Amino acid sequence: MVSDFKFDYVIIGSGVAGLHVAYQFSENKFFDSKRIAIVDRSIIPESDRILSFWEENEGVWDTVVHSSWNSVLFKSADVNLNIHLENHTYKSLYFKEFSSFCLDKIKRKPNFCFLEEEILSINERAELVELQLTTSNLKSGFVFDSRISEDYFLNKNNFPSVIQSFKGWEVVFEEAVFDECSFTMMDYRYQWNNSNSFMYILPSSNKKALLEYTFFAPFTILNSELDAQIKGYLKTFFPNKKYTITTTEAGEIPMTSYPFSKGNTKKTLKIGTAGGWVKASTGYSFKFAEKNALLIVDQIIKQAPIRGYKQPKRFKFYDKLFIKVLKNQNTKGPEIFEKMYSKVKLNVLFRFLDETTSLKEEIGILLKLPYWPFIKALFLK
Ligand SMILES: Cc1cc2nc3c(=O)[nH]c(=O)nc-3n(C[C@H](O)[C@H](O)[C@H](O)COP(=O)(O)OP(=O)(O)OC[C@H]3O[C@@H](n4cnc5c(N)ncnc54)[C@H](O)[C@@H]3O)c2cc1C
Repeated sequence: MVSDFKFDYVIIGSGVAGLHVAYQFSENKFFDSKRIAIVDRSIIPESDRILSFWEENEGVWDTVVHSSWNSVLFKSADVNLNIHLENHTYKSLYFKEFSSFCLDKIKRKPNFCFLEEEILSINERAELVELQLTTSNLKSGFVFDSRISEDYFLNKNNFPSVIQSFKGWEVVFEEAVFDECSFTMMDYRYQWNNSNSFMYILPSSNKKALLEYTFFAPFTILNSELDAQIKGYLKTFFPNKKYTITTTEAGEIPMTSYPFSKGNTKKTLKIGTAGGWVKASTGYSFKFAEKNALLIVDQIIKQAPIRGYKQPKRFKFYDKLFIKVLKNQNTKGPEIFEKMYSKVKLNVLFRFLDETTSLKEEIGILLKLPYWPFIKALFLK
């Protein structure tokens, strides 16, 4: 049992965000002299999930990437697009493999300590932060905290938001049915009751794929409905083909303009979902967590305030506007995404979602989308 131990940094949560931060600390010699604790109820993840992201060229995570694609499919009743990604690659990895890759590296550093406990409370004092765990108490100079604040649950309805609900089946067919060179970002040909709902498909071979039925909607959806959609999709587009379900996954990601940064204090930084590291208009967080972790390292070394990535105001505005469209005019989703994928160059779109485009490029994108839902959204809550 560790009791009243003092650390320079405590990372609460060994999920996606906590691991990104801990991994970047372990990779930089500056932190070799710092005492760092990672606290989670369960350091080794109990359940797995497939995490996807795009990036230009090769990346640090390529050793654990299990599948990657250089072209994307978008399908609706009116279009059937197969778009080459040029200098981007879309990549997928298993969370458990990402976790063990990071933990293997971190465990080689003697200055890291792992505590499998529940955080009960944290109190900020003038000099340090006191943390009460199930069986021990810690003190830390600074805390990175993955716990979502109470305030979010109390006040989330005061901010525009929709929920990304999804269920995925990993299926293996008896015969070749997929083109493993392309993944399907959105297939709108099998919608649920006129909502913004679509199928997302990640083939890892010509027989095996993750089929994930997804909603971006102001309501949650029953697990049984999601299962029914996947079953119906398979029956419609792969008639009489035999398959086995190997694993399933499910999730609900809040797509919200709630200001997560208000949970930060002088000695605490909220990270991951709790820190607003999930891109509000897409639900992707993996690359934003990496970007934040790298910035945090840089800020600590430069003795600058530890704040991670500060989202530029105009991207906050685009995210909020888009969420308002999905919240108030959910049925417009398919038309907007159809225009986006048919008219905007994918490399520009990916950079836009990464928040690295110029204002001129952003205006170019917005002019290609149906403008009326966005104008209407300006006047709605
Ligand atoms: C099925 C599924 C598929 C997904 N696919 C993608 C994808 O393709 N791409 C993508 O970018 N994102 C994806 N996501 C979303 C992504 O997983 C989340 O955005 C990301 O995990 C958020 O990171 P986090 O560190 O904030 O939370 P988590 O990864 O959930 O980690 C939080 C950690 O904190 C610990 N913790 C919380 N409270 C306490 C406490 N009081 N005491 C101790 N420990 C505590 C938890 O045990 C947990 O380990 C997916 C999510 C799911 C569920």
